[in-house]
Amino acid sequence: MFCKNCGKEVVNNCIICPNCKFEIGSIDTGNEAFIFLGYLIPIAGFILYFIWKDEKPKTAKMLLIGAGVSTAFYAFIFIMILLFYAIIYFIILVMLLSF
Ligand SMILES: [Zn+2]
Repeated sequence: MFCKNCGKEVVNNCIICPNCKFEIGSIDTGNEAFIFLGYLIPIAGFILYFIWKDEKPKTAKMLLIGAGVSTAFYAFIFIMILLFYAIIYFIILVMLLSF
């Protein structure tokens, strides 16, 4: 990545530019609380992931994990509900055909 102030190339995840001492980004702690945030609001998690993936890769990863788990969980429930109805309809169909 490059410093926004002086344009010199700096190490990724660098908080303060070693060249001009400009504060490039806020501290990327990768706080686990962001997994929870991503889980609760997966859409916000995905949006923030794309905003932060270069600036705060650790935090962005936490959001992506949360949002991913949440999406997988809801997709699983959705598939289970679909399967449930498919089985019910199949049973009804079998009952109707047996008469
Ligand atoms: Zn700089």
